[in-house]
Amino acid sequence: KDIFPWEVEKIRTTCPFCGTGCNFDLNVKDGKVVGVTPNEESPVNGTSLCVKGRFHTDLINSPDRITTPLIKKNGKFVKASWEEALSLVTSKLKSIKDEYGGDAIAGLSSARCVNEDNFVFQKMMRLVFDTNNVDHCARTCHAPTVAGLATTLGSGAMTNSIEEVECNEVLFIIGSNATEAHPIIGNKMKKAAKKGAKLIVIDPRRTELADHATLWLPLNSGTDAALVNGIINIIVNKGWHDKEFIETRCEGFENMWETVKNYTPNIVSKITGISEDILYETAKLYANTKKAGIFYTLGITEHTTGTANVINLANLAMVTGHLGIENAGVNPLRGQNNVQGSCDMGALPNCLPGYREISEPESIKLFEEYWNTKLNPNKGLRIPEMLESSIEEKLKAMYVMGEEPVLTDSDANHVKKALSNLEFLVVQDITLTETAKFADVFLPATCYAEKDGTFTNTERRVQRVRKAVEAPGECRLDWKILCDIAKRLGVKGFDYGNVEEIFNEIREVIPTYKGITYERIDKVGLSWPCLTEDHPGTKFLHKETFPRGKGLMLPVEYEPPAELANEEYPVILTTGRMLYHYNVMTRYSNSLDALRPCELAEINPKDAKDLGVKDNEEIRVTSRRGSIVSKVKITDRVKPGMMFMTFHYKESPVNELTNSAYDPVTKTAEYKVTAVKVEKVCD
Ligand code: SF4
Repeated sequence: KDIFPWEVEKIRTTCPFCGTGCNFDLNVKDGKVVGVTPNEESPVNGTSLCVKGRFHTDLINSPDRITTPLIKKNGKFVKASWEEALSLVTSKLKSIKDEYGGDAIAGLSSARCVNEDNFVFQKMMRLVFDTNNVDHCARTCHAPTVAGLATTLGSGAMTNSIEEVECNEVLFIIGSNATEAHPIIGNKMKKAAKKGAKLIVIDPRRTELADHATLWLPLNSGTDAALVNGIINIIVNKGWHDKEFIETRCEGFENMWETVKNYTPNIVSKITGISEDILYETAKLYANTKKAGIFYTLGITEHTTGTANVINLANLAMVTGHLGIENAGVNPLRGQNNVQGSCDMGALPNCLPGYREISEPESIKLFEEYWNTKLNPNKGLRIPEMLESSIEEKLKAMYVMGEEPVLTDSDANHVKKALSNLEFLVVQDITLTETAKFADVFLPATCYAEKDGTFTNTERRVQRVRKAVEAPGECRLDWKILCDIAKRLGVKGFDYGNVEEIFNEIREVIPTYKGITYERIDKVGLSWPCLTEDHPGTKFLHKETFPRGKGLMLPVEYEPPAELANEEYPVILTTGRMLYHYNVMTRYSNSLDALRPCELAEINPKDAKDLGVKDNEEIRVTSRRGSIVSKVKITDRVKPGMMFMTFHYKESPVNELTNSAYDPVTKTAEYKVTAVKVEKVCD
């Protein structure tokens, strides 16, 4: 049935999928979201939206939504009242805390939820359960960005803005499939190319952006550190480095050079599989163009050398002076819609809100004064450590809000074992996720279209999220559920009347948010740092100085991935996203799911011929940790001996295969390199 524009009410909000943070209007008719229209005022996306933003709305009304609390009895979920469910949650968590201490409890906050939910979640873990065991999915993606950029530049965020992407003259895109994972940013990259910018695309897989590139470097998986060292080596030896920037703005050049001088083009070419000529071309183009930005995502961070890789990209930008200016910088494209905000809010085991380190006594003192309480001064557990601690029977309970570790964390069978081992698991979500199936209590929450608050996108822009429709059944707001638990346990500081009151507390405790008010971001949002109510927000960072003073260059040695192909597991599997889906959430939208209802594992025509498989036939993929079946897509976008799968499909759960070898600094797993064997599935 046709719906006419005058029949709908338009509610402006922010997209709940990728970190681009597009704005759009939810079109509401008779209390239901019936469509999406872009709004041209948005500086992020203007009138553009990708397929996910435009066609996802049936997931809001999905029949898979759970609308009453559930309690597991004799292995089966039964409906319960909120009173029953919350009484059970509070009594169980209290008794575990009393018997084993607060550190026997851990919580996963959510990059899908608004800043205000995340702020209250970490506050609940710290004040109510007396633990810093709070983490979220940044651990699986950009934790190395936060660590690497904070160490080198002093701030773990995208240095420049989305608006500037189109004005870069060279885009150094490494480990980022932007046209699928961040489509609106990917479009801007293609527009830049059309206007004459040169794209350098570095990825073992031929992504769509490689089709628009001046240079495509299909390096061997996991050799990024050697490649970047080789590029810096050429730049310095050719005298293309920015000596003045290095001298006045940076420290540690000599120390870094002691390592980098050994990465001669000849050696680097052998490690990476990229010819010396292409290495020279790349170095020359990047170093000799003023407006040259680095863009990266999980192809850099999801390695055992994730933090080192990020440090090395900062080295490259500092050596060439491509920082502190417009249309350049180091730009991590954050994954989920609010992963930047969740980190800012302190949903991290080592940081209080605003990245105040738990290990610094002044940070603890400051927040003890703010919150008029005593805080646990010990760093909390990171997600992999939580899982390990559960297997060791030290961690007794977990509270998971809006996260799906069973499908998104590496080595999924290990994750399931850890969740099964818990004495008590609470899951707060909108559907019965694969993780929720392990829960003792399920608390039904609201989705983004049913709540107010803010998301912070990849360019540090804080934008409004607005309630467009009522939540179904008995679903409740995330922050209200958490506050209810805190109040039932007699803890003060959770008497918020509305979500804006939470935001005002955030402004009090995080100086970079101080100048951002709901009124000021009513239309277009503001990018932090925004220190006062007349501050215009910050388009690009590090203009005159770095937050740590001088930028720090650090030496990075190349280390091979934890798993390499061998006779038994001869194929290298790499994982990532595809256009029609965002993690597992979009699977609940029939419109989007119809576009790609199953996994299609990409393999090269030569490997397909050797296996005797054709398009859409089934293969079995086996690693040291698990074995799954998937349909196949034959394409020369992957090299022989390499394959690519996404992590969107519970029917082909790729993370049952992936390696849980971790980056030692952040415990981010090496999703990008897994050795597997592939067999044809015979009828
Ligand atoms: Fe924009 Fe990302 Fe949403 Fe697509 S998924 S509309 S690119 S925010």
